[in-house]
Amino acid sequence: MAASADPEIVVIGCGISGIAAAQRLVRAGFHHVRILEATARSGGRIKSGRLGNNITEIGASYIHGPSEENPLFCLARDYGLLDPEALKPENQAMYIDERPHWSPNWFSCSGQRLSTELMRPALDMFNELMDEIEQFHNRRETPWPSVGHFIRSEARQRAAEKWKDKDKNTQELLLCGLSAKLKDEVCASATHTMDEVDLAGFSMFEGLSGLDCNLPGAFEDLIKNLMSELPADSVTYNRPVRCVHWNSTENGVSTVTVECDDGERIAADHVIVTVPLGYLKKHHSTLFCPPLPAHKLHSVQKLGFGTCNKIYVEFESPWWDADCDIIHLVWEDEGDILVHIKDISKSWIKKMSTFTVLKYCERGSHVLCGWISGQESEYMESLPEEELRSSITELIRTFTGNPTITPRGILRTQWFHDPWTCGSFCYPAVGVSAQDLENMMEPLPVKGSQSQPLQVLFAGEATHPCHYSTVHGALLTGWREADRLISHYSTVSP
Ligand SMILES: Cc1cc2nc3c(=O)[nH]c(=O)nc-3n(C[C@H](O)[C@H](O)[C@H](O)COP(=O)(O)OP(=O)(O)OC[C@H]3O[C@@H](n4cnc5c(N)ncnc54)[C@H](O)[C@@H]3O)c2cc1C
Repeated sequence: MAASADPEIVVIGCGISGIAAAQRLVRAGFHHVRILEATARSGGRIKSGRLGNNITEIGASYIHGPSEENPLFCLARDYGLLDPEALKPENQAMYIDERPHWSPNWFSCSGQRLSTELMRPALDMFNELMDEIEQFHNRRETPWPSVGHFIRSEARQRAAEKWKDKDKNTQELLLCGLSAKLKDEVCASATHTMDEVDLAGFSMFEGLSGLDCNLPGAFEDLIKNLMSELPADSVTYNRPVRCVHWNSTENGVSTVTVECDDGERIAADHVIVTVPLGYLKKHHSTLFCPPLPAHKLHSVQKLGFGTCNKIYVEFESPWWDADCDIIHLVWEDEGDILVHIKDISKSWIKKMSTFTVLKYCERGSHVLCGWISGQESEYMESLPEEELRSSITELIRTFTGNPTITPRGILRTQWFHDPWTCGSFCYPAVGVSAQDLENMMEPLPVKGSQSQPLQVLFAGEATHPCHYSTVHGALLTGWREADRLISHYSTVSP
């Protein structure tokens, strides 16, 4: 492989990380950059859909931490995609834990509306415990293995102390409220339960300042803008890659060959792999020849990748308060805060505890976004439409105590069954360390090898050391790998 000044670069995957890598390389003057995408569209886990006349986000909805430090915020601002509210300096300066709480509405499974005042101690205790997790950051040994174990054990102990003056029923209800919040957190980590999330590893994720914001149009507009900066023929769609043959030698020269599902073989100097971790976990043994080195494979297996889905539900009129941002559903038999559902096929719906109110809706339309994670979420994906509709209708009627509420339309996401994603996003599973994220991003062949360097590079959300699971994290990894090549070619003589 010659270190030619204008090498052949293949990017696998046209999500935001692949697009970002290609865009940066093209801007730096590389002319032979080609993206191979398995599906018929660009954007990957940025995907906008429709429910009635409303735009819904099938994938990412929020810019997390929208402020100057966040390159995604800067891009969206420069493309003119943000609401003026998001641009306000006071919005950008606020940290997520400083923000005024979203205005909640609470309902219980006996059809009661629970007052915000009544439920506030549950919310406060949950936030207090989540804030305390930071103290375990980088600790080799922690008193509990997981976030779930920590929350459960501490919550029970503190509840007995802090709520001792409340009657037994209220204490129990507040613990059930805590359970609802834990299910909400499970969605944020796309895991089955918080028992799977490492207590020390949880704080590897670094938040940025700024109140999370949506795009008033569609998140896909960002992709359209980015794509318009690439040469027209940069992407080949419907072209799944079957295998990356690396470290092979032809006539004494190392080569990388990308083999597509349709049999096409493409010779390249460098390949940037951006496939989701879920896909990598399932297909690593056939995707790389020779296989991934043992330490890298070990990290691929250790890092968590789970399912979080959304169920959008449209109503003719709202049954929540005009200022409500979030609805919490409290199951009154969950005082043990276990979040373990025994018979998923019968009780999967109990995993749903949160609906957020869609901010940008068409006139006369009212849409909620329900969140569900883990195995129940994966089961939900396979249900017939009618069964899903009747389960959601029954859930809402039960909690509101109103037997006439009928959804106008329902739209669910199905990320687990998406063959090119196999789930939603990554999380720090129990046992994971910062070294695993380092291993995820390490190019092949590994340092110290005699072979041609930088044959295979890795980008994508699950390769960012502290902004994993987000769009801005994915964007940064694409730029990182492009910069790796740019700096390589600025130091080798053609
Ligand atoms: C339900 C959900 C909600 C989310 N909410 C948010 C949010 O609010 N805010 C936020 O910041 N992040 C959110 N995320 C995460 C965010 O969407 C991702 O982190 C980000 O979009 C990932 O970008 P990526 O480029 O790493 O991967 P992807 O976008 O998944 O791109 C990878 C591409 O590779 C392609 N591919 C796979 N296999 C092959 C193959 N063999 N050959 C060729 N191509 C292949 C795929 O088709 C895909 O297009 C959410 C994700 C989900 C699923």
